[in-house]
This record gives sequence, C-alpha cells and structure tokens, in this order.
Amino acid sequence: MTNIAAAITEVKALLGQRLNTSKSVCELHGQNETYFPKMLPNAVAFPHNTLEVSKVVKICEKYYCPIIPWGVGTSLEGHALALHGGITLNMSEMNNTLEVNTQDMLAVVQPGITREILNKELRSTGLFFSVDPGANATLGGMAATRASGTTSVLYGTMRENVLAMEIVLADGKIIRTGTRAKKSSAGYDLNKLFVGSEGTLGIITELTVALKGQPEAISAAVCDFESIDDAVNVVIMAIQLGIPMARIELIDEISIRAINQYSKLDYPEKPHLFMEFHGSITSVSGQAETILSIAKDFQVGGFKWSTKSEELNKLWAARHQAYYATKALFPNQIGMSTDICVPISKLAKAIKDTQSDLKKYNVTGSIIGHVGDGNYHTLLFCDPTDPDDLKLNKLLANRMAKRALAVGGTVTGEHGIGIGKLNLMEQEHGSSLSIMTDLKKLFDPKNIMNPGKMINLSSKQIDD
Ligand SMILES: Cc1cc2nc3c(=O)[nH]c(=O)nc-3n(C[C@H](O)[C@H](O)[C@H](O)COP(=O)(O)OP(=O)(O)OC[C@H]3O[C@@H](n4cnc5c(N)ncnc54)[C@H](O)[C@@H]3O)c2cc1C
Repeated sequence: MTNIAAAITEVKALLGQRLNTSKSVCELHGQNETYFPKMLPNAVAFPHNTLEVSKVVKICEKYYCPIIPWGVGTSLEGHALALHGGITLNMSEMNNTLEVNTQDMLAVVQPGITREILNKELRSTGLFFSVDPGANATLGGMAATRASGTTSVLYGTMRENVLAMEIVLADGKIIRTGTRAKKSSAGYDLNKLFVGSEGTLGIITELTVALKGQPEAISAAVCDFESIDDAVNVVIMAIQLGIPMARIELIDEISIRAINQYSKLDYPEKPHLFMEFHGSITSVSGQAETILSIAKDFQVGGFKWSTKSEELNKLWAARHQAYYATKALFPNQIGMSTDICVPISKLAKAIKDTQSDLKKYNVTGSIIGHVGDGNYHTLLFCDPTDPDDLKLNKLLANRMAKRALAVGGTVTGEHGIGIGKLNLMEQEHGSSLSIMTDLKKLFDPKNIMNPGKMINLSSKQIDD
C-alpha cells in the first residue's frame, strides 16, 4: 500500500535536485505560524510546470503517497503541515504572470506568485488585485483557503475574484474550471468547489483572477472610542446605511498598544476603527463626513482623515503588522489565532461575548477584525509549557465558533478548517458533511491529497 520511499525515488528521478530530502528543508515545511506541533514531510518537491505537477501526482498516486501543496505557509489552522508525512509540493517556482488583459480587467497567473509581487507588476496598468489577507500569501494558497481580508467588504473574497483555474487532479489528470466570462449558467460550478478546498481535491496550477481599477481618490480615517461596543455600532450603522467603504477594521486596545510599540506610533490606547474610502475626490470626503457624523452618536474620541498616500501606507502597514506586533507584546507565549464570521446585526453581541469569555477564563487575548464583513479574529495567548493553558485557549475558540453557529454565522470567515477546526465541520454542516465526504472520496479515492485536512478519512488526528 503506502510506499513513500518508492515515490521519493521516482520523483527524484524526475526532478533531480528539485526534490529535496534534507532535514532543514523538511523542517521549514513542517512548521506553521501558530500553535500546532511540527509535522514534517519526507521530501519537498519544487515543480516548474503543470506537466511536472501531473507527473509527480501520478507517481504519488501509484504509491499512495500523501501530497501537500505549499504556497508560503502562512495559513493559520495547520493546513500545510504533513500530518501523514509524504511529499510537500512547494509551488514557489511556478510564480509567473502569464497574461494581463487590461480590457477584460483580468490576469492569468501561476499559483506561486504572491499578491504583493502581482500588484507591483500591475502598478503601471491602472489596475490592481484587490484581495488582501495582510500576509504576503500566494495566489494558489489564497484560492485554496478562500482567503479574504481588509478590502473584501467592497471588492469581495477569493470566491468572487477567481474566475477560472487549471487543476491537477489526484490521478494526474489536468482539468480547467470556470471561464473568463463575468457570469455563466453552464453546469455545476466546479470553480467555486475548488476555491476553498485547501489542497484536498487537487492542485491549482494556474488561476485567472479579476482585477479592479485604481480609484481616482483614496482617503483613510482613524477614530478611537471609549468602548469596542461603540466602535462596532458605528460599523453596523455604516454597513446598514450602505456606505461603500473599501476597508473598515476594528482594532482593540491591546492591539493598539502592540502596534504603538512595534511601529513606533502613538495612537491613544483605546479601541479604534481604521477605514478607507475609494471613489472620486468629492465622494471620498463625503463618505468620511458621513462616518464622522455617525461616530459622533457613539462617543467618538479623536477622528483624523487624510488623502496623503504616505499616511495611508503608514496606517495600513501598522494594521498589517498587528499580528506580529501583538505576538511581540507577549514574547514567551504561544499565540493562537481564531476567526469567526456572523451576520452584521449579531456582531456587537458576538464580540461582547468573546470579551466576557476572556475575562471569565482569565485568558490574555486581543480582538481585531474585518468587521465590515462581520468577521473578527481573536489572538489567544498561553504558556507553551502548560498543556492545560493551550486546552483552555481551544475551549474559548470552540465557544466562539459555537456562538457564531447559534446566530447563523460560520466557524471561520477566512482562515479555513485545516486541522484546527476539523471538529467543527459536522456542527456547521450537519448532514451536508456526508456529501462533502463523498465528494472527497470521488476526487481523491486514495486519500493522497493533503490527507487529514478539512475532511478526515483516516483515524489519525491531532488532539483538539
Ligand atoms: C499575519 C497574518 C495575517 C493573516 N491575515 C489573514 C486575513 O486577513 N485573511 C485571510 O484569509 N487569511 C489571513 N491569514 C492566513 C493566510 O495568509 C491565508 O490562509 C493565505 O491564503 C495562505 O496562503 P499561503 O500562500 O501562505 O498558503 P499555505 O499556507 O502555504 O497553504 C494554505 C493551504 O492551501 C493549500 N495550497 C497552497 N497552494 C496550493 C495550490 N497551488 N493548489 C492547491 N492547494 C494549495 C495548502 O495545501 C494549504 O492547505 C493571515 C496569516 C498571517 C500569518
């Protein structure tokens, strides 16, 4: 049955130096951004084209060898760890932009390109790729996790922005999903099935993504509040009034303290909203004024807004560093990031309940979120030497997820399932989970595609 050594020998004959079995390279691909223990692959392959990916997959299929696609490893639920060993497929050397079509506002790219590189390449075209998860992730990884981020409130998530893909299936067959057309009524939507499939159904080897036009004007506003409640109520009202904000981010006082220390800034240590507006010169100032008038009803403290690009860049750089800044505030602790998403009307209560839990269980944690989508993250800290401490963090993350389900939300708005949220799949999907399990078996009958993630077909799992 499973013969990883034989698969490695054949892949080595195919790729030569681009199949690496060194301890250091396997270690690099066996670690993660958060609390999971190391899980190393037996080898790491660096393919250069779709045909090579297909040949590697055929070899792995023959020997029942697990294959774990790898972008840059920034996922937060242990998605890219080699739970069952096998060969990790590092896609970073398939990182070209194959086409930019300014008339149809789309780009065709290989999966290993990162969003920052793509946007650098697009700079002279007047277009940009809008999905921004903060981390400089690959387009393949972002499609596989159905990522979103600060700008999704206006421009959508990977679900809306991936138009078409080329995919290598578990038997090595190469298929195409989706089209360049804006919409289609032709058949089952396989494109959307593969977006968010976390490498468990196939390997993405090419993506066609939608691009957006650079707005004529951009402005940003920053305001602080006495309580998170007030900040969240401003968001809810702004969304319900249909103000077309491009970004609206909640940052709690712990995260503000962390950002101040890390980025040498001096925001008041209070809950903040960081916002951005896109449009014409008059519309962006009108949107900022409307937000200010709403904020005045909710005890806003300071309110600053600007259209200067250097101030905007500084603001969003600080926001994007919040994760590492908060980890730096608690250097001897493990940080566990968890996210949920709820209907906007339930957001204030969801955040209040999380704050009560942090107090009740005496856990240090920060709250930050893409609140315009009803999505927020809690970064929970614990002592790495105390297993009970980590268990407590998991309990709090589970309680957050269950409360989200109880109000019609989801256990993860953007981070995904990986290993960390496997135990919540049944609670979220009920009897639909068996359909998903059947789909996994249909696409991957030998369970070689990132096994043990999202749908668990084997008995091995890590303690939740
Ligand atoms: C500081 C920080 C902030 C973050 N903020 C956000 C956020 O705001 N929003 C958000 O959505 N996420 C966020 N994340 C999580 C992470 O950036 C996303 O999940 C991202 O999409 C992962 O991309 P990656 O290239 O690192 O993929 P990896 O972590 O390498 O892989 C992720 C998953 O995709 C699969 N995969 C990778 N490439 C392919 C491929 N070519 N074909 C098939 N499957 C593939 C892997 O097997 C794995 O299951 C954040 C992470 C960090 C560290």
